[in-house]
Amino acid sequence: MGLTGIQIFKLLPKTNCGECGVPTCLAFAMNLASGKAELEKCPYVSEEAKEKLATESAPPIRPLTIGTGEYAVKVGGETVLFRHEKTFVNPPGFAVLVSTDEDNASVAGKIKRFLAAQYDRVGLKLRAEMFAIKDNNGDAAKFCALAKVVSDETGAAMIFMSDSTDVLTAAADTFKDKKPLLFGATSENAEAVGNLAKAAGCPVAVKGGGSLDSVIALSEKLSAAGVKDILIDTGTRDLKKAFEEQVLIRRAALKDRFRPLGFPTIIMANEMAGDLMEEALVAATFIAKYGAIIVMSDIQPHVVFPLLLDRLNIYTDPQRPMTAEQGIYPINNPDANSPVMVTCNFSLTYFIVSGEIEASRVPTWLCVQDTEGLSVMTAWAAGKFSGESVGTFINKCGIKDKVSKKEVIIPGYAAGISGELEEELSGWTVTVGPREASQIPKFLKSR
Ligand code: SF4
Repeated sequence: MGLTGIQIFKLLPKTNCGECGVPTCLAFAMNLASGKAELEKCPYVSEEAKEKLATESAPPIRPLTIGTGEYAVKVGGETVLFRHEKTFVNPPGFAVLVSTDEDNASVAGKIKRFLAAQYDRVGLKLRAEMFAIKDNNGDAAKFCALAKVVSDETGAAMIFMSDSTDVLTAAADTFKDKKPLLFGATSENAEAVGNLAKAAGCPVAVKGGGSLDSVIALSEKLSAAGVKDILIDTGTRDLKKAFEEQVLIRRAALKDRFRPLGFPTIIMANEMAGDLMEEALVAATFIAKYGAIIVMSDIQPHVVFPLLLDRLNIYTDPQRPMTAEQGIYPINNPDANSPVMVTCNFSLTYFIVSGEIEASRVPTWLCVQDTEGLSVMTAWAAGKFSGESVGTFINKCGIKDKVSKKEVIIPGYAAGISGELEEELSGWTVTVGPREASQIPKFLKSR
């Protein structure tokens, strides 16, 4: 359990100086207990109290990172059971499985598909981030050679999976600067794998025997040995039971502050399904509840793309609308004679409008104005997509230097701002475009 306000109060200086922004230490303690304040706001708290409070106020699910560089995957750090309570924090990493008894062509195919399945959406790159490399014959040299191919050709974060401590040791020694996840510590080898993880500075997964009791025993053992970065695989491969376990783990970590289960979890979707489509369904289940890493047997665009969008949606902050960056977006290679359209930065609007312009094949400049993520109609009603604000944006965004024809096309739903906008944009013509984005191709082609 976290500390109560009174327990925290006992650790504070009790001088009521007010420098933390509230008049008394008690009020500050109450705010800390309810998560409304941060300890750093009090400059006078002792080191001893800081240490105690930091431990008690640590996230109920330990945050940790697997891999390095652009493919590094942050997992854990979650603080809520349900997304609408606040937000989910770190989206699950997707891993593709390759094994040492797989032929070169198959591995090459997976690497090729992994690299190809990358999608840009509103300034975000959607893609899988990891490879799970599985040892099937206890040959350390072969395992390291496969890991080297994967690492050199993709730069992906890696999971090393082996029952052999020798293989894990060789791979961890060779690739420890890549911070791979070592998978995994079982009841037979927990001490050796735990020591290896500590020595290499790598996170480690505990693999239970199909029950929560078994993973609790393992995570307690590793924690007692000083291993901090742990992931949990309960060992269950039955979908219903695995789902129930995920909920129990999250509840125990959040509601009861039960530290042995306060770690991110790994889901072996490849071992829970008969084919790739079924794996996708398993993956989707655990994107929602509460997988931190999801291992799949392959990456195919028609399977991974919906999962990437699902993950994006589940892991966006429901209290903040998704936005596109304000700016000028050239679509279909526009030039100085191309039309200029303007819209708001609500990402859904941006997706739809830019998609329709793209489909029209008409070269067009799309100017996206920051409306704090509001749609055109809402922004217009809130005064954030007015003639004045759009005029100021067009005047300052730099589009004037890119086009010779001074005409701006506004969304049909904002037709009411055309008069005011013409006053703001001296020398420009304001044209009212279609109300519905689906009409944009016809509108552009008919000009
Ligand atoms: S800054 Fe620290 S000592 Fe001062 S009132 Fe706030 S909690 Fe108390």
